[in-house]
Amino acid sequence: MGLDTKWTLKWLELSAEAMKENRSRLIDLDRAIGDSDHGENMDRGFQAAMAKLADAPPETPAAALKMTAMALMSSVGGAAGPLYGTAFLRASTAIGDAADVEPSLLVDALEAALGGIVARGKAEPGDKTMVDAWTPAVEAARKAADDGGLPEEVLRAAADAAAAGAEATEPLVARKGRASYLGERSAGHRDPGAESSALILRAAAEAAL
Ligand code: ADP
Ligand code: MG
Repeated sequence: MGLDTKWTLKWLELSAEAMKENRSRLIDLDRAIGDSDHGENMDRGFQAAMAKLADAPPETPAAALKMTAMALMSSVGGAAGPLYGTAFLRASTAIGDAADVEPSLLVDALEAALGGIVARGKAEPGDKTMVDAWTPAVEAARKAADDGGLPEEVLRAAADAAAAGAEATEPLVARKGRASYLGERSAGHRDPGAESSALILRAAAEAAL
C-alpha cells in the first residue's frame, strides 16, 4: 500500500494504542533512571493527538503529523514533549503537500525528525537518549530505500533498527537529560525515550501491513 493519509492516521492510532499498552512499562523504565513520568506523558500526549485528529480530520499526511506535533508539544510536558513535537513537526514539513509518501520522501521525513530531536536536545549517539533509537532507524531506512525497498520494507527496517538501538542503550551511561544526573548508576537500564521511539516506529511499520 502507499503511505497516504489513511496510513498516517493508522500509524498515529497504533502509536496511541502502544503508548497506552506500554504505559506502565515506560513508567518503570523512567522510574529506574528518571522521574517515572514518561509512560504517563506519552499516553496523555497521544490521547490528546487522537482527540484533535477526531475533531478535525486532516486531509494530508503532513497535516496529520502537524496536528500531532502540536498536541504533543502542548500536552506531553517534560523533556519528551518538545522533542517529539519538534520531530513530528519537522517530518510534517519534509513531507509537504505529498498525498503519498514514497520511500525516499519517507527517509527524508525520518531524517528531518531526527534532525529536530538533535537540534532541540543536542544529544549525540551514545548519550543514552531517543537519538539512539532514531539514528540507526534513519540509517537502516535509507539503506532499505536505496536498495529499492517497498515502503513497508523501509518502515520495517527502521522499526527493527530502532528496537535494536533502544535495547543497546541498556549498558550506556546517560549524558543528557534527567538520567545523566545518575552518572554511572544510569548504566544497566534501557532509556525510556529510546523505547517509546522504537514503539512509535514499530507502529509506523504495522500501519503499512
Ligand atoms: P523528563 O526527563 O523531563 O521527565 P520524559 O520522562 O517524558 O521527560 O522523557 C525522558 C526521555 O527524553 C529520555 O528517556 C530521553 O530519551 C529523552 N531525552 C531527554 N533529554 C534528551 C535530549 N537532550 N536529547 C534527546 N533526548 C532526550
Ligand atoms: Mg521522566
